[in-house]
Amino acid sequence: MIYLDNAATTSVCPECREAVCSALQNCFGNPSSLYDLGLEASRLLERSRETVARAVGCGAGELFFTGCGTESNNIAVLGLARARKAWARRVVTTGYEHPSVGETVRALEDEGFETVFVKPRKDGTVDIDELLAAVDDRTALVAAMSVNNETGAVIDLPRLAGLVKEKNRRCAVHCDNVQGFLKHKTPLGDIDSMSISAHKVHGPKGIGALYLRKNLNIKTPYHGGGQEKGYRSGTENVPYAAGFAAAVESWGDMGSGIAAASAACKRLRERVAGLCGAVINSPVSASPYILNISLPGYKSETVMHFLEMRGIYVSSGSACSHGSSSRTLAAMGVSAAHADSALRISFTNPARESDADALADALEAAIKELVHIRV
Ligand code: PLP
Repeated sequence: MIYLDNAATTSVCPECREAVCSALQNCFGNPSSLYDLGLEASRLLERSRETVARAVGCGAGELFFTGCGTESNNIAVLGLARARKAWARRVVTTGYEHPSVGETVRALEDEGFETVFVKPRKDGTVDIDELLAAVDDRTALVAAMSVNNETGAVIDLPRLAGLVKEKNRRCAVHCDNVQGFLKHKTPLGDIDSMSISAHKVHGPKGIGALYLRKNLNIKTPYHGGGQEKGYRSGTENVPYAAGFAAAVESWGDMGSGIAAASAACKRLRERVAGLCGAVINSPVSASPYILNISLPGYKSETVMHFLEMRGIYVSSGSACSHGSSSRTLAAMGVSAAHADSALRISFTNPARESDADALADALEAAIKELVHIRV
């Protein structure tokens, strides 16, 4: 099997599996309980928090476990905007966010916020100056993703955050770093909050984390038992937190990860460029972990299943939306014909050039063998 859909999810690594199973078996206590079983669970939770926080680049006291990246984004976007409601009226984001940011920002319109969605350019990149121009002295929040999940387009969030703060110190900056975590350096600097998710880095599905800068003004949407310092009430998932930490520890070196992904992605770009009629939708400056291509005339789903029959897994559009048409490509103004034939290929660490070659060979075969059902 050649699995190249790591932006959708990753396999659970052995270290994670072991940590989760061990915690499920040996550490079932509620971390809030005051007897030894609770203390043991609490200690494992805090050790896991320290590991994940170190990888994010924050203190353990600024890192909160959540149920997933989606929940982290909801807490941040709703919580930061609502906390500034007394003086603010605007929220700024991009036109190609994951729905957990995009739809959450949209929902704030019902609460009286005015929203600005800055569209990506034709090449898939977002203009930082355009985002910045939308920030005024009554802007509560700028929320944007560091790495786009469909094309790999990158926004320099640390730089954006610095520029936003120069313009409006009270405006919060949220970074959806679900696709960038462990793959790219994202120094926190002026960033106020950051979302990450375990299942994109060989951890379990169903656990994420949220960085919240110390003393940040945020009004969590949750009410409950006050766990995670009240930001995310609900009994903590200690086994998955331990699994998340184990996955983070076994991810490997960031630099060699990027080098391997760059080599594999370069190889794939070269091979795709040689395929008859193929188009690359990812910007040249995109993360090497994600490449989006179109084979005009060949429906994404048909090619995806052709590859599946050969043991190669890629995504037709964004897996988060059940393969429905791509929000990002639509925002870029890509034609419907190109969007309907789009495939997303996404690597993990370590990426392999041989996988890129095997995929390119299979795409060559698809172009020949499926020519009779070309639309
Ligand atoms: N943000 C981005 C950029 C994503 O790619 C995803 C998932 O694909 C999410 C948020 C949501 O993460 P989760 O699946 O953990 O809810």
